[in-house]
Amino acid sequence: MTRETMPKKTKEALLDEYDHRCAVCGGDRPHVHHIDEDASHNELMNLLPLCPNCHLRDQHNPTRKIEILKLQLFRRYKDPAILKPQFDPIYTRQLFLETVLLGEQPVDELESQAGELIEFVQALEMGEFYGKRLTELIGRLGRAFMMVLGDGPDPHYDEQVRNYNRDYRQKLITNREGARALLVELLRYQGWANA
Ligand SMILES: [Zn+2]
Ligand SMILES: [Zn+2]
Repeated sequence: MTRETMPKKTKEALLDEYDHRCAVCGGDRPHVHHIDEDASHNELMNLLPLCPNCHLRDQHNPTRKIEILKLQLFRRYKDPAILKPQFDPIYTRQLFLETVLLGEQPVDELESQAGELIEFVQALEMGEFYGKRLTELIGRLGRAFMMVLGDGPDPHYDEQVRNYNRDYRQKLITNREGARALLVELLRYQGWANA
């Protein structure tokens, strides 16, 4: 594999953005780490300055490294609370959003995962507010199905279900980034995040 060299301008922009410090611990003389581990992918949002300890000892050690998706979240929002273990229960419960696909397949599982995330958030500080916002973004669609009573299956009913499934999947995909932004925002109200 050939290793493309990183444009000097990109590296400088990154180091300036982080004040020439490690994004994780604030240590100095940071290396540039590729978040998705593709050394040729030099987009700014795929790069993170990490000091030799956080970089080589941690991020390039399979047993110590922060997972890629979490690191991407940290790159986007920069909130150090994202890296704290207390964030894990929230992080784990929102992971399903990442893998939602368009289609008409049943959404029961997705609805229950969204419900679980919303319930979890409701139990946190400022949970009432954020629970409501999150429900708007990823909660099940308020929609009733009409069933025509008669002999045999009702094709119209099945069509409503397929439409519902498609629309709900589309809703999750449209709003997942907004939902993540809310989840990161609510961290500032949690005591542990500022400790
Ligand atoms: Zn560091
Ligand atoms: Zn690296």
